[in-house]
Amino acid sequence: MGMELFKHIRDEFPILSQKVHGKPLVYFDNAATTQKPLMVIQAIDNYYNTINSNVHRGVHHLSQLATDAYEQARVQVQKFINAQHAHEIIFTRGTTESINLLAHSFASEILSAGDEIIVSRMEHHSNIVPWQMACEKSGAILKVVPIYENGELDMEAYKQLFTEKTKLVSITHASNSLGTINPIKEIVDYAHSHQVPVLLDGAQGIKSCGMDVQEIDCDFYCFSGHKVYAPMGIGILYGKENWLDKLPPYQGGGEMIKHVSFEETTYNTLPFKFEAGTPHVEGAIGLQYALKFIEKYGHQHMIAHEKELLHYAENQMKIIEDIRFIGTAKEKTAVVSFLLGKHHPTDVGTIIDFMGIAVRTGHHCTQPLMDYLGIPGTIRASFAVYNTKSEIDTMVKALRTAQQMLN
Ligand code: PMP
Repeated sequence: MGMELFKHIRDEFPILSQKVHGKPLVYFDNAATTQKPLMVIQAIDNYYNTINSNVHRGVHHLSQLATDAYEQARVQVQKFINAQHAHEIIFTRGTTESINLLAHSFASEILSAGDEIIVSRMEHHSNIVPWQMACEKSGAILKVVPIYENGELDMEAYKQLFTEKTKLVSITHASNSLGTINPIKEIVDYAHSHQVPVLLDGAQGIKSCGMDVQEIDCDFYCFSGHKVYAPMGIGILYGKENWLDKLPPYQGGGEMIKHVSFEETTYNTLPFKFEAGTPHVEGAIGLQYALKFIEKYGHQHMIAHEKELLHYAENQMKIIEDIRFIGTAKEKTAVVSFLLGKHHPTDVGTIIDFMGIAVRTGHHCTQPLMDYLGIPGTIRASFAVYNTKSEIDTMVKALRTAQQMLN
């Protein structure tokens, strides 16, 4: 039934109807970024054509309209992840900035020498490097949860890593390289049994799983708009109110202050304490409309559609000679990572690009994971709501051709 519901969805994504190298575009790079529906593009257009103005500071009509629109976008995000309060949603540039914000605040307020932060081996660089920087500043250390060959977290090892020095767990909701969906409820519950807060990196999870922050009870969650049909340059950090109140600001400037004097400056209340400077208003509105777009079709229907594509792809692809799937966890997002014989991922990716197929090749910003797997990278096809089984057929055919050319 999923396929029927999404029959006309490609009409909402004009970019998909173009040809690349003379072939119809098959866009399978959705884990890197999704395309944007007309609803989002038109909302941004409408914002600049009708209400553009700086927010929060003006008494004039347009400024009030822009402020209302920006704050409505925050409420839309709040509802989407079921946060208790809208002020628990901080707008950022994306996942990377959200994690940097938190790492900065933790380094200056929470962490001291000898403290420990738990991350996992499958993290994206943006959930490793900010913590390494926080460790450098504070003298804390990183502890790494190992994974199994199939790409699942070793949960027993995870539990062994806790000590009285553990100050935070920061783990991805789902792996961008392997597709593994982690057992986030178990991760959070165990950390909380040791009074340790948890940040979940939702960059991949938000589109392919959805999120209810009250049900999962994570202390922090973040994602990038551009991976859920919204514009680039906008994302969010969710934090529980009591945590965000406790943490110091990230950047200083306008908007984030209550009062400034050379003797003493006081900070604004949430969420503005963490939003220094003029925000990305058009981005927030674009994100709001992307979430409305998801609501229009129903997120659960979209997730079911992606799962159907994943199973279809895995079944069709396994007949390709010498294919090796990387990441075979039981619970997976719509990501198929693989290698073709001994061929370098870049060679395969380059050949199928000439057939109009966009996949990602390389280490996917997860070098420690690739090192562990002993491979330089993978070829990654990742699906979204507008993809079809016939596009998968096209890719399978192209992969076979590429293989013949390279052999
Ligand atoms: N974490 C994960 C799991 C990701 O997939 C990505 C994007 N590839 C990021 C973090 C970083 O997201 P962004 O570049 O949008 O900040």
